[in-house]
Amino acid sequence: MTTNTIALITGANKGIGLATARQLGALGMTVLIGARDTERGRAAEEKLRAGGADARFVPLDVTDAESVEAAAKLVEREYGRLDVLVNNAGIALGDGARALPSDTTVATLRRVYETNVFGVAAVTNALLPLLRRAPAARIVNVSSEVGSIAVMTDPEGALFALTSVPYPSSKAALNMLTAMYAKELRDTPIKVNAANPGYCATDLNGNNGFRTPEQGAEVSVHLATLPADGPSGLLWGFQMDAGG
Ligand code: NDP
Repeated sequence: MTTNTIALITGANKGIGLATARQLGALGMTVLIGARDTERGRAAEEKLRAGGADARFVPLDVTDAESVEAAAKLVEREYGRLDVLVNNAGIALGDGARALPSDTTVATLRRVYETNVFGVAAVTNALLPLLRRAPAARIVNVSSEVGSIAVMTDPEGALFALTSVPYPSSKAALNMLTAMYAKELRDTPIKVNAANPGYCATDLNGNNGFRTPEQGAEVSVHLATLPADGPSGLLWGFQMDAGG
């Protein structure tokens, strides 16, 4: 079995996921580039390899049970364990930032939850047996402060005007998933945390964010490389902690 640290990043073909893979690769990890599209996945793999990283494309659509199972089998067959899982793949659909919950269709909610919530549970459950085989695995769920009920209901806060429900509520569910996995795994060396990358310029928001994908990725990398006495079950990152 390889002694290299093995990291799988979902949705790693662009944006914060690609930057996370680049940064973990620069730390010497073998980075598995989870991507649902072969061309985009291969292009990312090539880009990272050209930069010196030990990168490998792994086909992975987090909403497709067969794809998730195949990815887990590939990791088991090739590496026998997984040290780092970054659940980064995410989508933001909706009817605009000011769309009311009462205008939101269940179909839209379902689509967002399929990726942002159920996809994370499916990938985590499929890979947990391999994460348990690592000496001290780290799971990072890429979330957002819009998933914090305290932040979203603060009348003085900048996000109070935001009424769109699919994306924020999916990240609230993801934060709770994170807390529950952390509780389940509290007597193991595995740490599970949610990352808040801050508002980063990516395709997710029409490249309107004021942070770079690289800055967002630093939050995931920090949580993916926590020491043994680091926290578990937190939402941590930009503006949410002195280190963010
Ligand atoms: P991008 O749109 O740039 O990247 C999203 C990535 O997720 C793409 O690689 C996309 O693949 C992939 N993806 C989407 N659906 C699936 C799926 N079903 N299976 C596998 N991969 C999928 O957005 P970001 O880089 O901004 O987003 C990364 C994460 O960061 C998300 O979870 C997002 O919610 C979170 N986040 C982003 C913030 C920001 O300001 N940008 C702020 C807070 C959180 P494809 O190219 O095939 O579409």
